[in-house]
Amino acid sequence: MPVLTRLIPSPVVVDIRPGALDDLAGLLADQRISSSGRVAIAVSGGSGQSLRTRLEPVLTAADWYLVADGTIDSAVRLADGIKGKRYDAVVGLGGGKIIDVAKYAAARVGLPLVAVATNLAHDGLCSPVSTLDNDNGRGSYGVPTPIAIVVDLDVIRDAPVRFIRSGIGDAVSNISAIADWELSHGINGEPVDGLAAAMARTAGEAVLRHPGGAGDDEFLTVLAEALVLTGIAMSISGDTRPSSGACHEISHAFDLLHPTRRALHGEQVGLGAAFAMHLRGAHEESQLFTEVLHRHGLPVLPEEIGFSPEEFVRAVAYAPQTRPGRFTILEHLDLSTDQIRDAYADYAKTISS
Ligand SMILES: [Zn+2]
Repeated sequence: MPVLTRLIPSPVVVDIRPGALDDLAGLLADQRISSSGRVAIAVSGGSGQSLRTRLEPVLTAADWYLVADGTIDSAVRLADGIKGKRYDAVVGLGGGKIIDVAKYAAARVGLPLVAVATNLAHDGLCSPVSTLDNDNGRGSYGVPTPIAIVVDLDVIRDAPVRFIRSGIGDAVSNISAIADWELSHGINGEPVDGLAAAMARTAGEAVLRHPGGAGDDEFLTVLAEALVLTGIAMSISGDTRPSSGACHEISHAFDLLHPTRRALHGEQVGLGAAFAMHLRGAHEESQLFTEVLHRHGLPVLPEEIGFSPEEFVRAVAYAPQTRPGRFTILEHLDLSTDQIRDAYADYAKTISS
C-alpha cells in the first residue's frame, strides 16, 4: 500500500498577531531554536534601532549587527561577522532588505534563520529566496526556508501604509502568475505542482476577496498568512513559479529600465497582473482585480506611480527578456510594441469606463 507523502520545508513556528514581538525571547527558548539565547540579530540603522531599544533588555545574550543596505556585500559582511561565534540562530529583524540579507548570511554560515518582519511589503518573508543588489543590478539566491516567522501586527500598523498595499499587490498577483503557469502547461506541457498552485492561489484569492483593509487586524492577519503561504508554495515548487509570471516580468522590466524611479515591488506587480489579466481576455476577473487594487489605493494605471503610458508599453515589450525561459501570456501572445500600445489603450479605456 503506497503511503508515501512528501515533506514540505516549512517554518516550525508561524506567529502572526498583535504583540508577537513581546514573546520573541520565549519563542526562541520554548521552541528550542535557541535555549541559550545566543543569537545574532540583524537590524537596520533606521527603524531597527527603536526595536533594538525595546528588545535588548529581554534578549540579553544576543549580539546585534547593523545592516547598512540590501547588497550582497552587506550579506557577506554579516556572515563574516557572525561566523565562528557559536550562535544558535540568526534573527532578521526588519523589512524585506534586512530579512534578505539575514537569510543569505544565515545560509552562508549554516545557521537557521528567524524572520521577524516589520512590514508586509512582499512575499519574501518566508520564501526560499534572498534577493540582493549586486554588481549586475539585482540577483536572486536560493536559501533555506526560515525556521520561524514572527509578524507583530502592532509593528506592521506602524509602518507606512504603502508597504501594506505593496504586500496586497504581491499576494493578489499570485492569481495571474498561476494563470501563466497553467497556460504554459496547456501549451508547452510544463508540469504544474498542484499543491504549490493550491497554496499560492488560495492565498491570493483570500486577499483579493477579503472585504477588509489595511486598517484592520483581521485583514492584516489574512495578508500576512497569504504571504507566508506563498513563500512555502515557492519552497514546494522549488522556484518562484507559483507567485511570479507576466506580472513580475513587467515589474522586473521597470526595475531594470528605470532603476532610480521604480515604485514598490507590489505596486508594480499588481499593475502588471491587472494588465496581464486583461491580455488574457478574462474581463470579469480583470475588472474585479482592478476594483480591488483601487479600493486598497494601489495603482491600476502607470501614471499613478509616475510612469507614462509609453514607458509602460516599453516595459511590457522588454518584460520577456527579464526571465528567459519563463512562459507567460506575454511570451504566448508575443505582441509587437504597436500591438502592446493598442492593448494598453484598450485596457485603459476598460478601466475608466
Ligand atoms: Zn513578488
